[in-house]
Amino acid sequence: MKKISIAIDGPAGAGKSTIAKALAKKLGCIYIDTGAMYRAVGLYCIQNGINYHNENDVSQIMQTLQVDIYSEDNQQFIYLNGKDVSLEIRTDEVAAAASKVATYKEVRAALVRQQRQMQSAKSVVMDGRDIGTVVMPDATLKIFLTASVSERAKRRFAEYQHKGIAVTLEKLTQEIIDRDNQDSSREISPLKKAEDAVEVDTSLLTIDEIVDKIMSFIIK
Ligand code: C5P
Repeated sequence: MKKISIAIDGPAGAGKSTIAKALAKKLGCIYIDTGAMYRAVGLYCIQNGINYHNENDVSQIMQTLQVDIYSEDNQQFIYLNGKDVSLEIRTDEVAAAASKVATYKEVRAALVRQQRQMQSAKSVVMDGRDIGTVVMPDATLKIFLTASVSERAKRRFAEYQHKGIAVTLEKLTQEIIDRDNQDSSREISPLKKAEDAVEVDTSLLTIDEIVDKIMSFIIK
């Protein structure tokens, strides 16, 4: 089969990872969650007492930090300096740190380089914020997933309830608004739809409907 690359971008909670994973499975591609890579950098700062608001300090650690992603049976594992941190990166504290370190040039340069290497080696479905605009401008297909803030907050709330984590809908809504602002307003590679991306609003669609819709763009 010809090598393909699918870029899925969009704000936090739009359903990127669920959709990207399902697509990767259907197409027999590797799924790459680039947000997990930024989260790994954020986690490293938190665990090692590095002030992630200081760009110089974070840029310095990028020279030796090793972030690796492996996919197995459509499941993804993320390693930080050889240690599996796939579960540890899934906290709100890490998400906020990730969103901050993602504004730094050195961090983006190192991770984008790695993401491009993965694209050149295999067929991939990659999700993030700058995949269609920066990482894979030549992607076979670019999708920009959106959903209303209230819908995204509701989804996160349901996820947290399922995991037994106590949180209010108001707090999640505010976190989503804050992260949207930080991701869209940053100077380098802000979250934005690529000109040639297809926008899909996921607010009123089921996962299967969204996947079928995107598959129809690929088959065409
Ligand atoms: O997708 P996820 O919520 O795990 O991403 C965490 C943070 O990493 C985002 O809020 C964003 O700031 C950053 N990110 C990015 N570029 C990407 C993927 C994620 O800036 N390609």
